[in-house]
Amino acid sequence: MSATETAIASAEAHSAHNYHPLPVVVASAEGAWMTDVEGRRYLDLLAGYSALNFGHGNPRLIDAAKAQLERVTLTSRAFHHDRFADFCTQLAELCSMEMVLPMNTGAEAVETAVKTARKWGYRVKGVPDGMAKIIVASDNFHGRTTTIVSFSTDPEARADYGPYTPGFEIVPYGDLTALREAMTENTVAVLLEPIQGEAGVLVPPAGYLPGVRELTRERNVLFIADEIQSGLGRTGKTFALEHEGVVPDMYLLGKALGGGVVPVSAVVSSAEILGVFRPGEHGSTFGGNPLACAVALEVIAMLRTGEFQERAAELGDHLHRELGLLVGGGTVETVRGRGLWAGVDIAPALGTGREISERLLAERVLVKDTHGSTIRIAPPLVISKEDLDWGLDRLRTVLSVP
Ligand SMILES: *Cc1c(COP(=O)(O)O)cnc(C)c1O
Repeated sequence: MSATETAIASAEAHSAHNYHPLPVVVASAEGAWMTDVEGRRYLDLLAGYSALNFGHGNPRLIDAAKAQLERVTLTSRAFHHDRFADFCTQLAELCSMEMVLPMNTGAEAVETAVKTARKWGYRVKGVPDGMAKIIVASDNFHGRTTTIVSFSTDPEARADYGPYTPGFEIVPYGDLTALREAMTENTVAVLLEPIQGEAGVLVPPAGYLPGVRELTRERNVLFIADEIQSGLGRTGKTFALEHEGVVPDMYLLGKALGGGVVPVSAVVSSAEILGVFRPGEHGSTFGGNPLACAVALEVIAMLRTGEFQERAAELGDHLHRELGLLVGGGTVETVRGRGLWAGVDIAPALGTGREISERLLAERVLVKDTHGSTIRIAPPLVISKEDLDWGLDRLRTVLSVP
């Protein structure tokens, strides 16, 4: 057996089968490239679902992590540490907000937002105890906890995990009328992805997000933007909502905030909203730890210059122009997305998203399917134009486009 086959067989024997990885075993990576255990190089067009916006082994991020590793890595929140205040201040500033509540994974940021919105509903809005409702969208992806899968519409993500957490109302994504009709006096929040990543990079109709903003403001309801995948440069702006000129009440950040080095997530909001918490009411042992703060501070510094956002916008225009040329030729049906982020619906006759991904793997390009015949393209923002073009050439080869 090859080194690849041995590693995969062993992983399959000893790990739960909650994923179905492509058959490649990565040993090292740099920038937009990964190398497998047999020395083959692959172009990474997934970037860890946007956790690797700044590329693999980004020198600035690795240096920040190394320097912090040698000083102090964990204090727990029982004590202050000397990176915490800077992290919170600078992240709040990047978001033009006032306060930060740090956690680790994206799902924890979503859970924190749910708790914040409910507490705000009872303490500030005056919703009767136990009655708070949060409105979410169909085809959402917000994570994997029991509460979060309770409001998923994906049977794969949800089935067999009941009893489900009550208090959520699901409306069709992009439908403002349905959202208006679902609102009651007990609605405390609307939780949305500005672009739905896992659903296939779905961009809502123009006017929808500003409409959500207006409606939530009118009805004294919090607008929670899950920018865990869409945020921090991916779409060509710091936040996907910026394209619509919309400012939410709460940003949920994760993935790229940890620079592909450590898991870092956060809820970023106003002092009025995050001010609902008192000591002991919420927390996490690892949330806001020194190593996480040091890496995230470097991520924030990199985003402050705007260079990565600009790169994502420029290369994204190029990516969408090139993919657009394939539409209508019988191979690609639709392309959606913004910036360096595209959902590509391949003609089902050419194969499932999984089959296309496997054929791309054979061509040394790594992507991942979402659903059906859709693949997602989301390279690290540090990818060169030449490498992106090389990847697009491989895609044309796989689709047999001359
Ligand atoms: C990935 C993701 C999450 C969950 O993040 P984890 O770190 O995997 O828990 C939540 N929301 C969105 C939009 C995501 O893309």
